[in-house]
Parts: sequence; structure tokens; C-alpha cells
Amino acid sequence: MRFPWRLNYDLSKYILGNSLKKIDRYPLVLMLEPTHLCNLACSGCGRIREYAGTIQEMMSLEECLAAVDECPAPIVTITGGEPLLYPPVYDLVNEVLARGKHIQFCTNALLLGDALDRLSPHPNFTLNVHMDGLEETHDRILERKGTFKIAVESIKKAKRLGFRVCTNTTIFRDSDLLEMEMLFSMLTDLGVDGILVAPGFSYVAVGEELFLERQEIERKFREVYAMSKRFRFWSTPMYLRFLMGEKKLQCTPWGNPTRNTQGWKAPCYLITDGHYKSFAELMEKTEWGRYGVGKDERCAQCMMHCGFEPTVVREISKSWRDMLEMAIWNFT
Ligand code: SF4
Ligand code: SF4
Repeated sequence: MRFPWRLNYDLSKYILGNSLKKIDRYPLVLMLEPTHLCNLACSGCGRIREYAGTIQEMMSLEECLAAVDECPAPIVTITGGEPLLYPPVYDLVNEVLARGKHIQFCTNALLLGDALDRLSPHPNFTLNVHMDGLEETHDRILERKGTFKIAVESIKKAKRLGFRVCTNTTIFRDSDLLEMEMLFSMLTDLGVDGILVAPGFSYVAVGEELFLERQEIERKFREVYAMSKRFRFWSTPMYLRFLMGEKKLQCTPWGNPTRNTQGWKAPCYLITDGHYKSFAELMEKTEWGRYGVGKDERCAQCMMHCGFEPTVVREISKSWRDMLEMAIWNFT
């Protein structure tokens, strides 16, 4: 099975429960950013630029856990910034797991080698390592030499210790797809459990030059889709078909709500019109109908997984073909 069976079980139970209760808007993944502090300054990073003025701030452990308790999403993505710079990070991981939630732990891997000695493999815990290309490209995008080698060594160590590891790769305007194929092949040889891919999104804070526009995304992802047949992608086939222009989807901005040092970010992981004090307020007060492609000009080029993978979950039950495709994909 492609995804861990416990994740499949918990997610299916949660979705079914919401559907029986006729709840239409519910979160799937809580994006928890305890700090935006980072030990890198990657070219494509919107976070460290958007939150430059508050980058030294950190959520308390209690605030993080209150967010996990308040938001019913079964998956918590611990991200940042670099979450390994967050002092109570090990307590945070243990407490989230103790609540029966699943963790995707996003890291640039610079501190991961040592951190692995303080973390333990757990069926609900997945390391998610940022990999943007082979050595030269990865080091250029992360703007520091040596980052690729560190990430590779950390992945090897994590696999040796029995951790589940996935990687996430952003496809930028100048990404060479032959190089991406070589990267995915190398990651497969390292034994990674899953590969996530997504097009970069043009954050206002970063500028346009790095990022793909919709037609370029569709062209590049036709090739990426072909690669998904050869490598163990965790990006779903429907999302990839959307990226290559074959499937029309609207986003689900409440699917991956973000909690950071400033509050609950509205409306979505990518654009910010404000921060609310509570998850309930975010859900009630955000004018969801104002957002999405064709509704807000900032959304025009967005095809990001955090907005559209939750739509896949909503759409999947509407077509037998999609359901069958997903089932076959998950069981292979
Ligand atoms: S490692 Fe992540 S958070 Fe840090 S600068 Fe790079 S993209 Fe941003
Ligand atoms: S299209 Fe993208 S940026 Fe716009 S609301 Fe949806 S997820 Fe957010």
C-alpha cells in the first residue's frame, strides 16, 4: 500500500464521519508553523520573506498543542521555517503523536542527522525532506553549498534507523525535467517511501521570475505525470492530471489551515488577508466564496497541493473512474 494503512484508515474514518454529519467544510491537514526562523534563505521561500518582521517569534508549546486540539484534522504538518530550530520540538512531536494524529515533519535536513538520535520511528510519523534537484541545483536554490550532501546523508541515516521518509520537490520555471528524473531515481535507490512534487507558487513576497505560469505548469507536468508511473509518487494521480491540464478543479482553501505565530492564517497557506485568534473564527469569518481561480487575481496561477489535494479528497467519490484510479494507485 502506498500510504501507511493507519493513515488510510484514520483519514477514511474522518472523511466518512464528516460526510455522515453532513459537514461540508472540514480541514484535512493542519499546517503548524511554530516558528518561521530558518537556518537557510532559499530563493523560492515565501515564508521567511512574508514573516521577516516577526521571524524571531515562536509559539509556545501550549499554543501549538492547543492548535492541534482545536483543529480536527487527522494530519499535522510541522513546518516553518525550520522546525528543528524550535526548542521544544521533541516534546511537540511526542505530544502530537500521543493525541493519535499523524505527523508530516518538514525539514531542510541541515540539523536532521543529530535530531534523528532524539526522535524515534513511529507508524504515524513521516519525515518530509526538501529536495529541489541534484547537487548543483539543490545547493543553488537553497543558497548554500553542501546542503544536498547533508540531505542525502540524513535520508540514508533515517532509513537505516527505520524512519518513514518522503521528499518534496518544487518544480520551478528553470527546473530541468531530465535532472528531476535522475533525482527521483536516486531517491528511489535511497529507499524513500514517497515523492511529493508541486509547482512553485508566485508569492507576492518573492517575485515572479522563478515561478511557472499555468500553461507552463501544464506542459512540464505532462512529463512529470509520465514519471509518476515509474517512481513512488505520493502526489495523487488526480492532482497530477489537474497539473497537466486534464482535470478541472477548484481549490479547497480550508483543507490545509495554517497556524503560525500570528494566529490562524486566512484564507489559506499561500495568501494572507489576516490572522484569526481561533480555528473556529477562521472557519466562520473567512469569506471562502471570495477565493479561488477566477475570483481573486492572486489565485490566478495557483495550482499548489495545499489548495488542490484537499479538493481531490472531496472529488474522489463523485466518479467511479477516479475512485478506481485512486484505489489502484494506493494499492500499488
Ligand atoms: S528551508 Fe524551507 S523555510 Fe527555510 S528558507 Fe528554505 S524553503 Fe524557507
Ligand atoms: S487558489 Fe491557491 S492561493 Fe487562491 S485561495 Fe486557493 S489555495 Fe489559496
